[in-house]
Amino acid sequence: RQRTRASSAYRVFDRSLHERALRRLHIEAELGAAIGARQLHLFYQPVVQLSSNRILSFEALARWRHPELGNVQPSEFLSVAEETGLIWPLGQWVLEEACQQLSTWQRQQPERPLCLNVNLSPHQFQQSDIIRQVQRAIRKSGCAAHGLNLEITEGAMLHASAAQTITALRELGLGVQVDDFGTGYSSLASLHRFNLTALKIDRSFVENLGSDPASQGIVQAILKLAEALKLDVIAEGIETPEQRRSLLDLNCQVGQGYLFSPAVSAVEATKLWQRCNSGDAANEGGAAPTQ
Ligand code: C2E
Ligand code: MG
Ligand code: MG
Ligand code: MG
Repeated sequence: RQRTRASSAYRVFDRSLHERALRRLHIEAELGAAIGARQLHLFYQPVVQLSSNRILSFEALARWRHPELGNVQPSEFLSVAEETGLIWPLGQWVLEEACQQLSTWQRQQPERPLCLNVNLSPHQFQQSDIIRQVQRAIRKSGCAAHGLNLEITEGAMLHASAAQTITALRELGLGVQVDDFGTGYSSLASLHRFNLTALKIDRSFVENLGSDPASQGIVQAILKLAEALKLDVIAEGIETPEQRRSLLDLNCQVGQGYLFSPAVSAVEATKLWQRCNSGDAANEGGAAPTQ
């Protein structure tokens, strides 16, 4: 009996392992074609002013709707893309699609400045061609570069030419923000050498704001650091009104999270933005009905 149970448990484990391996092979085999076949989409999550819910920007987030596998998460396909080199065409597609959308939004309401945040993967950021790739996406779309923010990770900043790349990107007129700040290895002493525009406080610190004094201390320290370096701050992963309140109490003014909205399609994002900008966003609730 004992043995039967053990071996069937083993089989179950084995099967799920097998399924995962198959799924990964599937992803690996089809990601390249998916980029061309329009199975990938960009969704957009609002970045809001916490006091008014007014939408300041959207973060573009990649989504893959696979005909058989269903929705494949970025956490699943980005690692495959990085390992196979597909991150290069994928990254280029994301940049061009995002700039196109930004250009559309800028033309729709020229009097309302809106920004778009685009994630760069570490490999993409380290490619010698990255400046030209960004330049091309801007030129092709006709978007105004000052509306574009590129998000890089602390890990990407360890690369020898990172400071130079950031400066070259800034010279194109766009912003460079550090994503998931506080989880990587950037040294405080070297941060001022980089020509950055903002730090994005990682979700893990926001999550424990109310319950864990250490998280509150870390958020406070990041805000102080940003103030000293004259950088903007964006809090990620705000899910509750209490987290929003704590951030405002700490004088953190900008953030994003499910409390306001998850990432939505371009059509939905446009509606959110139009609703937020018609009349007084502070009274209407902007991106979210919740206070
Ligand atoms: P990220 O850049 O830090 O993006 C934020 C992630 O947190 C997104 O997950 C978003 O949907 C999720 N999120 C937003 N608000 C909340 C919240 O209140 N609670 C929780 N639990 N999660 C929230 P997503 O879309 O699955 O993306 C995961 C990561 O994949 C991103 O983290 C980013 O590093 C990467 N990624 C996504 N799209 C792209 C892309 O187009 N290019 C590159 N290079 N990386 C991307
Ligand atoms: Mg990001
Ligand atoms: Mg992040
Ligand atoms: Mg993240």
